[in-house]
Formats: sequence, C-alpha cells, structure tokens
Amino acid sequence: MNYQNKVQLITYVDRLSGGTVQQLHEMLTDCFPDTFGGAHLLPFYNPIDGEDAGFDPIDHTSVDARLGNWDDIQALGRDFDLMADMIVNHMSAQSLAFQDVLEKGKHSQYWDLFLTKQKVFGDAPKSDDIACIFRPRPTSPFTEMALGDGTHADFWTTFTANQIDIDVYSEQGKAYLEAILTTFARNNIKLIRLDAAGYAIKQAGTNCFMMPETFEFIEALSARAEELGMTCLVEIHSYHKIQCDIAKRCALVYDFALPPLVLHALNTKDLDPLATWLEMSPRNCVTVLDTHDGIGIVDVGASGDEPGLLTPEQIDSLVESIHEQCSGESRLATGAAANNVDLYQVNCTYYSALGCDDYRYLLARAIQFFCPGIPQVYYTGLLALPNDMELLAESQVGRDINRSYLDLAKVRTHVQKPVVQALLKLIKLRNESNAFNGEFEQVKTKEQYAMQWSNGHDKACLHIELDTLDAHITINNETHALYSLLQG
Ligand code: BGC
Repeated sequence: MNYQNKVQLITYVDRLSGGTVQQLHEMLTDCFPDTFGGAHLLPFYNPIDGEDAGFDPIDHTSVDARLGNWDDIQALGRDFDLMADMIVNHMSAQSLAFQDVLEKGKHSQYWDLFLTKQKVFGDAPKSDDIACIFRPRPTSPFTEMALGDGTHADFWTTFTANQIDIDVYSEQGKAYLEAILTTFARNNIKLIRLDAAGYAIKQAGTNCFMMPETFEFIEALSARAEELGMTCLVEIHSYHKIQCDIAKRCALVYDFALPPLVLHALNTKDLDPLATWLEMSPRNCVTVLDTHDGIGIVDVGASGDEPGLLTPEQIDSLVESIHEQCSGESRLATGAAANNVDLYQVNCTYYSALGCDDYRYLLARAIQFFCPGIPQVYYTGLLALPNDMELLAESQVGRDINRSYLDLAKVRTHVQKPVVQALLKLIKLRNESNAFNGEFEQVKTKEQYAMQWSNGHDKACLHIELDTLDAHITINNETHALYSLLQG
C-alpha cells in the first residue's frame, strides 16, 4: 500500500485558503497540523473554472497557472498522500485538439481522439440502441456540431456540451491517457481518482455503462498506474452489488452507499440497513459522507427487480428529510431546480442535511471513521459549513450550494467552532489507533450497536445506544463520550 490508513481531505485548491497550491499547503500545515494523511485535490488543471469546475480540462497535463505549478504539487505531495482526478471520459470542447477538429473536420489529426455517434452506431443508428443508453442527465448524449469543412457531426457529450467524450480505444486516446499517467507519476501523485469511469466505453446494443469492456479498460488502466507506482480509486455511482463487483476487480472503490445510509440511520434510529451493508460492503474502499457532488441516491436504490439497501419509501422519506432539515434549501439546488449535471443526487452540505445539529453530525463522522475504508472528509464538511445559498443564487449551479469559497480568515473562524474542534479530535483518534489496521466486526443487539476494530492488543470500539443515539468511543482502555468531545 503506497498510502497511509489515515483520514484524507477532499478539497478544491481555489475554494479553500486563498487560491494557490502554496497557500493551501501553508494553511494545511498551520491550521490542521497532523490531521490528514492525504489530500484529494479536485481538478487543478487548466482551467479550474470551466463549465464543470475543472472536470472539463483544456490541458489535463498542466496546472492552472493561477494556482501554481507542478513543483508546488510535488511539494504538497511530499507532506501528504496526494490524490488527483484522471478525467478519462472527456475533455473540454475548448481544447486545442477539439478546436482543430471543429476547424478541419475529418481532416484534423485529432479526429480519431473523439467519439461520435456515427463511430459507435454507424450511419443508421437503431432507435432502441439510442434509447437504452444509461444517462446521468435528462438530455441527449450527443451534441451536433458544425465543422469547418461544411459537414456536421454528433459528438458524444455524456455530461455537458462542453465536455467531448474521448475514444479511449483510439491510438490517440491511449496516448492521451498515458501522458496524464506519466505526468502524475513524475509529480508525486500517489492516488488516482478515475472520474466517471463507468461511462468510458460505448458499444452499440448495450447501455454503454459499466459493461465487461469497461471493467477491462479500468483494469488495464489501473495496472499501468500500478506500474508507475500509483493506485486507482474508481468513481462510479451505481447499484450496491455492482459496486461490490467492481471492488473485486480494482484496488479501491468509493463507499457511496454510506452517506444516505448514515442519514437514514440518524433520522430513523434504524441502523439495520447500514449493518446489512457493512456485512457485504467492499473493504478496499474510500468512505465519504460528502464530496464536491451531491448526496448519491442510486447507490442505495433498487436495480430492476433487485431490491436496494433502502426501500423506495425509505428513500422518499430520506430525500424529504434532507429537504426538511435544511428548511427547503436543498430543493432549490436539486433536480430541475438548478443547473445540474447529475440527476441522482441531492445537493446539500452534509451538515445542513443533518439540520446543522452538532451532535448528530459528529456521530455521523464517528460512524464513517469506524467503517472499513480510508475516510475522506470534504472541506465543507471539515468546517461544518451550512448550505451556501448566496453562491447558489449567484451561479445557479446546484452543486455550488456545497462548494463555498473561503479565505484563510474564514477558515480560521470556522476552525474555532466546537463542532470542528470535536471533529479534529475524532480525526486524530482515528489516525492514531493501530486497531484500524486490524479486523472489523459489528455487534448489534436490540438496544445497542457497536462497531469494533481489533488488531492484536489494540482495540477501538464505537458504541451507540439505539433509543437515544448516545455514543461513546473506547480506544484500548480509554473511553470518550461523544458529546464530551463537543465540550472541549
Ligand atoms: C465528477 C463530477 C463531474 C462528472 C463529469 C463526476 O463523476 O465527480 O463532479 O461533473 O464526473 O466529469
């Protein structure tokens, strides 16, 4: 394992601490000493402020000059296990390569790099083939564009019209991905988040999502990353059993079922779905409660006739409860209400989704940290931020409700909050106990739920009383009541 079993931070460079990699580095050292083993830096390539906040790179191998350069990334990578996004599915329509295609059409040297409808379905696509394509958004997967040679082409645009899908099987596509991998390896990146990997392969007659060929593509890419000394984390929101299958075939997956299951548990005091999931969930995972995207719902839902981890009624009341706990703010940011890339997510900070209740928020984090996997904490969660209604109103981008811009002074103010101080203590407990390198077990009775770790003499346990949600943590012989962490 080339990374530590410690809590990692997820953050944008430009939305936390003033805007540059160096400033972020200083802030992490000053405000959060000995707190994070690693950091997932959300896309920092040129440009960071495209239509999809960096997930639409013009040049995936360069650092946006407003943030710094690769030397700064290397320096950060000496202090933290760094994770970077590899955006395998698409690149910006403003990229030099795509602009050349727009100008020269099929005569462009980059023509093969991009995927068109015609390339996958031929000249006479069957309407059934098009209808069965799995979509993260309500729009067509194609965008018709006029080319400089007077022709038109329907380009695959899985996400937005500014994100043109790459033909990852083409020689140019392979060279593009290899260039990103080698750039990462040269610059101290240890972990790679394979962004939207489930959409990378398209084939007529399939739903073009997570097919056997997609698995093969992910496996080959991960193997190449391993050769270069890096580990891949595969980012896919899907039915929980698919997630278990993916986990068997790759180094790391996200536990995306956790955020909704923890909310369900804390709202209803019903921990059974969480316990059921933890019996079968992948151990080679990264756990999150929040990310730069919304709270995923497909991850706990049914798949055709196969039941999900929550019933449709439980999911409905979970979504309603998020809206209620934040007084309806998330309604203004979710689904059709705002410009949303993802249909299946509720946009809300995790703290607001729990009604900004410090104790329940801390308990949610304690549960996360006791689950198997490497825990990641998104920066708005680290600072227990409520929804950013101002930014949402300004940008009308649903996910901006959970993507605040903060300067150092604001970070320092938020760090003083009792809930943040308590969270920092919890992070240290998780990082410092060797028990978490051992075996996980859960014990459930009618009254109590316990999450236990054991590694030789080292033990760590989180006990939760089911009727009151009172909880305490025992590390070897030391016990901390969870509410006492909030009291300084
Ligand atoms: C990222 C999103 C992004 C999408 C397209 C994802 O799954 O997490 O933020 O919009 O991929 O790149």
